[in-house]
Amino acid sequence: MKHRRRIAWLLLISFLGFSCLTVRLATLQLRQHARYAWAAFSQQTFTVSLEEYPRGKIVDRCGRVLAGGREEKRIVFFAPLLPDRQEVARQLSALLGKPVKELERELEKEAGVLPYSLTPEQEEAVKNLNLPGLFVLPYLIRYNSPPLAAHIVGYVGKVSSPEEKRRSRGEWVGKQGCEYFYDAVLQGGFPSLAAGVYRDAQGKLLNGAGVKLFAVADPERGEVELTLDGELQRKVEEVMDKHRFRGAVVVLEVGKGDLLAVASRPAFDPAHPEKQEPDVSFFDRAFAPYPPGSVFKMVVAAAALEEGVVRPEETFCCRGAEGPLLPCWKKEGHGYLTFRQAFAQSCNPVFAQVGLRLGQEKLIRYCWELCLHERSVIGYPLPADPRQNLKNLMEPYSLANLSVGQGPLLLTPVQVAAVLNTLLNDGVYVRPRLVKGIRQRGKLTELPPDKGKRVFSPAVAREVREMMALAVREGTARLGYIPRVGSGGKTGTAELVGEKRCSWFAGFFPLESPRYVVVVMEEGGRGGGEDAAPLFREIGEALIGN
Ligand SMILES: [Zn+2]
Repeated sequence: MKHRRRIAWLLLISFLGFSCLTVRLATLQLRQHARYAWAAFSQQTFTVSLEEYPRGKIVDRCGRVLAGGREEKRIVFFAPLLPDRQEVARQLSALLGKPVKELERELEKEAGVLPYSLTPEQEEAVKNLNLPGLFVLPYLIRYNSPPLAAHIVGYVGKVSSPEEKRRSRGEWVGKQGCEYFYDAVLQGGFPSLAAGVYRDAQGKLLNGAGVKLFAVADPERGEVELTLDGELQRKVEEVMDKHRFRGAVVVLEVGKGDLLAVASRPAFDPAHPEKQEPDVSFFDRAFAPYPPGSVFKMVVAAAALEEGVVRPEETFCCRGAEGPLLPCWKKEGHGYLTFRQAFAQSCNPVFAQVGLRLGQEKLIRYCWELCLHERSVIGYPLPADPRQNLKNLMEPYSLANLSVGQGPLLLTPVQVAAVLNTLLNDGVYVRPRLVKGIRQRGKLTELPPDKGKRVFSPAVAREVREMMALAVREGTARLGYIPRVGSGGKTGTAELVGEKRCSWFAGFFPLESPRYVVVVMEEGGRGGGEDAAPLFREIGEALIGN
């Protein structure tokens, strides 16, 4: 009996062992198969890649493609098969409306894809030419037109340095954004679509056999899944472009801290990064540090309430240009007002006094807790900016100025969104997230959201939230009111360079059970209340579909 049981065990173990081996062999074979298929195809044929870059996709939270999935019909040629290159150039020039010289230059190559999008009529006309060596075939283009979330998606370029040569598996390499950070994940070994014409033993193209298509998915390629919502992103960018906006807009999902839209203007076209027009910029303003002005009062107010150095109902007196401590933006002064009203009216003398009560050390500690020294978010490891070293705030300078967001403190629009999310998340800070996960060989590895850490008590968070509602109801943020759903917000205006201003609005909506944080930072403009607030409202209305 004992003997028989032992045999059964042995059988079971060897069966399991074999099953594991079979699965392993099958996956290996699948992976090898694709590579061998490509090797065979490119050996037997004169091959033209029908994919702009052999890389994995970058997709939004719903799987909408942001890079790597656009298909267009293009003209593919194999020059040795063409009857007469000059004659073909002339015919195509007439059909496509392009200069003959340009087409002659293109057709000087052995084979290739012509860089023109075809209309359905042109497609028909080229097919009707019925020329040997000339075909209309699908071509995979990497970037959307118009582009979306250009700074975050990034772009690809030719390898141009020894460091890039080390990173690259071919001639292309990621230069910015996710294309850069996830280069190793995205890079593939061969195109997933190619056209080839068979060759004889001497390498001569065989006429008459036609063109053969190669379409095998590359299992080595990974895919990057962002937290961005392509639809929201598009709406945000449309509003920015309508107003020829210069600056950044960040939309964050309340609670979890997922970034739903991150846009910066001016932008660039990832399909043509070489175009250097005056309005083209690779500089991502959403992750760049700017003087925060009065949006920093969110931090000062919450810290002061948390430390018990002020009560919401405490009364102060503002004498306008005469302070105390600092002049108020309202020259004639606010007169007597409570701390809550001082927040809503963005009164500088009151915040200067409260900042002094709080003290430098405590204020810096809260900045530290809110990670105002780090630009990076989950899945997007930007290096820290040395200008955000919080030790700078220890230098002798005016604490009164810092309390109203002036001085050596600089914040990125994404950081401001994270601060506001802390107040809406009952005082718990979570690091924002930009990448949901990476899909490799069919398996998604998720980058989990931040667990979070408590910075303020729920009561303090609720109080500042109510102050922001008051700012929209009767304070400086009135133009940030979003009809039907209501909103809360804080304005900010800071000096940039010279006369130029930096206008902020940090707000949330709906007022009851908030879902979105939206931060608007405009370079220039008249100020947060006048310019950034109406834009916040317009974006809010677009997002809720008003
Ligand atoms: Zn005042």
